[in-house]
This record gives sequence, C-alpha cells and structure tokens, in this order.
Amino acid sequence: MSEYNREQSEAILLVRYHLKTLSPSELARLKTRTRNYLRFRKEVDQFLRHYFSEVCTQKCYQNHYSACCGREGITTFFADVVINVLMSSDEEINPLLQVLGLPNPGMKCVYLGKRGCLWRIKPIVCEMFLCEHARKTVFEKDPLALKEWERLKRREKRYTWPNRPVLFDDLETCFIQAGYSSSLMYFHNSPGLLRVKAMAMGKRKRLLRNSKSNHENTKESKIKREK
Ligand code: SF4
Repeated sequence: MSEYNREQSEAILLVRYHLKTLSPSELARLKTRTRNYLRFRKEVDQFLRHYFSEVCTQKCYQNHYSACCGREGITTFFADVVINVLMSSDEEINPLLQVLGLPNPGMKCVYLGKRGCLWRIKPIVCEMFLCEHARKTVFEKDPLALKEWERLKRREKRYTWPNRPVLFDDLETCFIQAGYSSSLMYFHNSPGLLRVKAMAMGKRKRLLRNSKSNHENTKESKIKREK
C-alpha cells in the first residue's frame, strides 16, 4: 500500500472508529456543528451543476480527459474525512477502504470510480477546483457567474482558512482532545497553516490590548472630568 493510501485509510478507519463510540446525542451535536458547512456545500453543488455540468461532462467524461482527479495529487483534510464519514453509511465507506487497499497503477485519483468520485461529500479542494478550460468557457461568457463563484470562494474560507476559528480546525481539535492523531491534521501540523493561526492570534491579542487600554483611558479621563 502506498504512503498516500495508508494515510487516507488510517484516517478513515480512525474517524469511523471514534464516531461509533459516540452517543446519539454526541453524534447529533457533531452534525449540528457541520450544518452550515453542508448548506454551503449544497449551494456550491447547485452552482456547479447549473453552470458547469455541460462543459465538464463534455470535456472530462465524454473525452476521458479528467484533469482534476490526478493521482495522489489531492489534499484531503482530516475534517473532509470526518464530514464524509459522518454523513455516509458503512456501505458508502467500505468501497473507499477497498480501493485504498488495492494497487493504483493508473494516473487517476484512487477514489475515482466508474460513476465519478466515491466520496459522498468529496474533499473541499476537489469541490472548489475549476480547470482553466472550464473557467474560461463559463466565466468569459457570464461575468455574473464569476462574481457568484468569487462569493462562494470567500465563503469557503470561513470554514477552512484559520485566520479565525474555523470548522476544519475545530474538528481536528475535537479528535485530538479525544486522543487521536493523523498526518491529515494539517491545521495542527502544517507550518503554513500554523503560521496563519499564530499571526491571527497575535492580531486578536493586540486588538484586545488596544481595546483594554482605550477603555482604561476613557475611564481615566471621565474620572478627571468629574474631579
Ligand atoms: S477525491 Fe474524488 S473528486 Fe477528488 S480527485 Fe479523487 S475522485 Fe476526484
């Protein structure tokens, strides 16, 4: 089994194991935490179906081109795995584990099945990827579609860009606190993402200090005026 397949497989098994140990109310709480994100994913899905299904079907499926699902090129975040396992049945997860256990001689992503991606809620990196051909075909003709796409890209960051508390970081933390670790926990082990978090934390602390000192100055001048 390749390193990539092993890491993926371990993450899926770990998440599945932990979720099975949770009580129905804990599971329900976890689902509630992902509700807004899933709503966002539904909107992205509707957008892609509306604007891109024709161009992607023609370019990638009928011509067997499929540039996006390249071999071992896909970053899957630990939270992607959590959300997918949380929303999938065992019958949907077992095929993922099966393909990860097989050699992958082709140049395509291990998860690319005959009828498309095997994930129920595919990784966010895949969902938000548009190839140059598709972008040009759709956005050059329809600038409003481009505006809508940019709005969705900004919304994506609310869940995945850790310059503020975000769902993808929270879900990792939740599993770390339960005693698990995975190489897919990039929000806790990628130097780039850790730097973003540290910078944001520094900014928040500075803002807090400034607002405290402004408050104290206002209090002081009020006391002086009253004297
Ligand atoms: S995970 Fe799914 S969508 Fe992403 S590259 Fe693989 S087959 Fe394609």
